[in-house]
Amino acid sequence: MRIKKGDTVVVLSGKDKGKRGKVQKTLVREERLVIEDISMRKRRVRPRRKGEKGQTIETAMPIHASNALLVCPQCQRPTRVGTELREGKKVRICKKCAAPLS
Ligand SMILES: [Zn+2]
Repeated sequence: MRIKKGDTVVVLSGKDKGKRGKVQKTLVREERLVIEDISMRKRRVRPRRKGEKGQTIETAMPIHASNALLVCPQCQRPTRVGTELREGKKVRICKKCAAPLS
């Protein structure tokens, strides 16, 4: 998977199509991403103790990595990610402007 935690991505499908968000977590084995404020699901929590109130918690659900495209911090465009050897190190690069991605 070429998207990493901390990357900004744009969502390509679903009800959050077109939205941008920061990757909070990557599920490598499932190739899924948890993105801030994307694919929010409401979950209601019952009161645990007497006198405590039930709450509604919103959590971001993971989406498949193929439904997200990385936004290059350099050119601000959604792009695919390439890899290149630079100074003996494998770096991720933007396919559009060739800027290295951290
Ligand atoms: Zn770029």
